[in-house]
Amino acid sequence: MSGGGELRRTAPLRSSSPTARAKVSPPAKSASKLEREAADRAAEREAKRLVRARSGGRCEVCGIAAATNFSHRKGAGQGGEWSAANGLDACGWGNTLGCHGRIHQRPEEAREHGWMLRRNQVPEEEPVDHAWLGRVLLTSDGMVIPAD
Ligand SMILES: [Zn+2]
Repeated sequence: MSGGGELRRTAPLRSSSPTARAKVSPPAKSASKLEREAADRAAEREAKRLVRARSGGRCEVCGIAAATNFSHRKGAGQGGEWSAANGLDACGWGNTLGCHGRIHQRPEEAREHGWMLRRNQVPEEEPVDHAWLGRVLLTSDGMVIPAD
């Protein structure tokens, strides 16, 4: 269809109207985002430090192997935070190796032991079977409380 092609203006240009000087603010700096990311990194460092101090470098799941990484009880995708209550110092890595792998491969077992939590669970309130401390509650400041 090639008809017309006539452009119609529905409203006249108002070239005579005073130019309202819109105050143009500079592009929003992403300072808040940077601050948030920095805070996240600081929380991660602190949680890892507290968990490593709690574990003494031994896997808190098996109690045998050297701990190599922070295993989230409630994952970031479930709203889990970087907190000593939400983490275990675990051996292995990722989804296959060591206790970290075991947790991911056997979620039902991991939930029974409190090594893995569901979205609606609060880490500070859910007991965990700790390799040598028994059934305990983990606190966000890196301490443990007997759960029974
Ligand atoms: Zn282990």
